Amino acid sequence: MRTIGFACTSAEEDLTPFHFDRRNPRANDVVMEILYCGVCHSDLHWARNDWGHTAYPTVPGHEIVGRVIEAGPDVTRHKVGDIVAVGCMVDSCLECDQCRKGDEQYCREGKKQPLGMNGTYGGIDIFDNTPNMGGYSKHLVVRQEFALKVPEGLDIAKAAPLLCAGVTTWSPLRTWQAGPGKHVAVIGLGGLGQMAVKLAVALGAEVTVISRSDKKKQEALALGADRLLASSNEKAMQEAADSFDLIIDTVPVEHDITPYLPLLDIDGTIAMVGQIGPLPPSSSLPLVYGRRRIAGSLIGGIRETQELLDFCARKNILPDTKTIAMQDINAAFAELQKGDSHYRFVIDMSTLKA
Ligand code: NDP
Ligand code: ZN
Repeated sequence: MRTIGFACTSAEEDLTPFHFDRRNPRANDVVMEILYCGVCHSDLHWARNDWGHTAYPTVPGHEIVGRVIEAGPDVTRHKVGDIVAVGCMVDSCLECDQCRKGDEQYCREGKKQPLGMNGTYGGIDIFDNTPNMGGYSKHLVVRQEFALKVPEGLDIAKAAPLLCAGVTTWSPLRTWQAGPGKHVAVIGLGGLGQMAVKLAVALGAEVTVISRSDKKKQEALALGADRLLASSNEKAMQEAADSFDLIIDTVPVEHDITPYLPLLDIDGTIAMVGQIGPLPPSSSLPLVYGRRRIAGSLIGGIRETQELLDFCARKNILPDTKTIAMQDINAAFAELQKGDSHYRFVIDMSTLKA
């Protein structure tokens, strides 16, 4: 089916309107009219070829909320008119050990894909061998298992970022059992960071934001954090030694994490969801003296994402967002690059005219 989106044609060019074909729906596919799409820093990495394997032209976007406008004959989970959501992946084998335990993002077959999973963009359709195109567009065709149910009561104009920023922080918070009595720190108060704070607070943990300066202190406190620690303040960093059970690092540029390691308590974990830089030999000391761990984490599984959506609906948790028109995407990318704000841009797709 013919649709329209905004695509990048090279790492240097702005995103521009782009007409393209979505695959013909298969028996277990739904066709969605996209209503909203969040803007993730990963979209920017991908558009700018930061990971070195972007295939152009490409349509970014993996925080997608929309309405089902067509359902194939084998679709049992959704019906026409339902509000559904799609995150960072659109397919997996559903048969390997990882898929069976609900970690489709680590699917053994998905690992063979360019992105290491069958990405909403960056992925390759396993039947057609065509590149997947993301959510900065009017329509999406997706197999029913990868469309999440958006619970009633969740404001759909704000919910889209839960599909990536939300679940990417929810998954490590759950894996390392953030909750009452646990001290969680979040490095980088951007789109992922603000969700990590809101979710960790809702789970009952004590929460510290670690930011480059104290400029975002009011925002951090308003999100429910107990305090903000400026990483540029050496004295405050020293005083925070041995404080945290879990640190979630969302910084989108390569950086040395050695200064953060002593902040972990014994047996504490730093979960990297952003970019990590080279580790100097001196990083081994705080790791060894404290059995501290550096871990990674990739989005979350489908069941986990549904669990998050239901949790957010129950607790009325939504990201702080700024709604933009599709044609404002290039200005939004420029702002995201600076990392000055903590809110998530969400594109109102009704502004994209065919
Ligand atoms: P944002 O741009 O919204 O936020 C990043 C924050 O990091 C900024 O707000 C800023 O916070 C801090 N920061 C530190 N140094 C810099 C710098 N040089 N430039 C810009 N920001 C800086 O990004 P997102 O939250 O959308 O994404 C964060 C990272 O997580 C990205 O690398 C993204 O690709 C990755 N990601 C990973 C996923 C996974 O599954 N592992 C899924 C989704 C995203 P402050 O001002 O407080 O220091
Ligand atoms: Zn993302």
